Amino acid sequence: METSTAGGVPPEPTAAVTAVPPASLSPSRAGDFMQCPLLYRFRVIDKLPEKPSEAATRGTLVHAVLERLFDAPAAERTAPRAKSLIPGQWDRLRETRPEVVELFADDPEGERLARWLGEAERLVERWFSLEDPTRLEPAERELFIEARLDSGLKLRGIIDRVDVAPTGEVRIVDYKTGKAPRPEYAEGALFQMKFYALVVWRLKQVVPRRLQLVYLGSGDVLTYDPAIADLERVERKLLALWEAIREATETGDWRPRPTKLCGWCDHQAVCPEFGGTPPPYPLPVRAPESGGTEQGRMGPD
Ligand code: SF4
Repeated sequence: METSTAGGVPPEPTAAVTAVPPASLSPSRAGDFMQCPLLYRFRVIDKLPEKPSEAATRGTLVHAVLERLFDAPAAERTAPRAKSLIPGQWDRLRETRPEVVELFADDPEGERLARWLGEAERLVERWFSLEDPTRLEPAERELFIEARLDSGLKLRGIIDRVDVAPTGEVRIVDYKTGKAPRPEYAEGALFQMKFYALVVWRLKQVVPRRLQLVYLGSGDVLTYDPAIADLERVERKLLALWEAIREATETGDWRPRPTKLCGWCDHQAVCPEFGGTPPPYPLPVRAPESGGTEQGRMGPD
């Protein structure tokens, strides 16, 4: 297999020191590598800064509101109550992540901010047509989970909501502020949920009964009831992915994989696909093995 380093001068191989891959994998970072190995490098190895986006920040705000609403007694979890939480959660977000203030720095009249907050209200309101929080009592909200597989690979993530039925059956719920994918892309959307299900299964020896994606942007709910075979397949997939990440970390060979998603990538200026040069690779490298895992062709399943 022909090998090349993504743009710029290839780093000199060194025999003495081997780069250690990052310690764990989350669904987002696994998704980054599957989308574009070079994007993964920029985010995880180089830790290049990224500008906050209106859409992602609105997602964070809406998630915070839906989480906090469950602090109220069940009967008071209404749409007006949820919407009334938005200004306070927006203040909190600006305090904890001051960089989001930049988003509206060029909006002195506050018109764009008002539209943005109005869209957050609509997303919050739509949730009430999809789920009834007066009838829900989550076992967990914003639950951080982490499990180590037998191979040593550590998986981690944050689950928006975990519901546990009186029978003990577990439902994992994730809110999305975007639109539901077309059916042919549903498998990709479920990858994150199966990842969480695998971690819960490994941690608690319980296979979640249901995985539920709630799309506030389009008003859709996507559910999937996983079987053990699904989770074993995801585990094999993640191990192959991890092997590819380890190989790329050690060799410094991170391939760009251009797709239409490049339009949302903050790193075009340093991406060879757009005429840029990546920063010098910050880790020691060794020569690539021949016949290693092919990068950038790993779909979610
Ligand atoms: S611009 Fe596209 S190809 Fe380049 S790093 Fe970003 S996602 Fe990868």
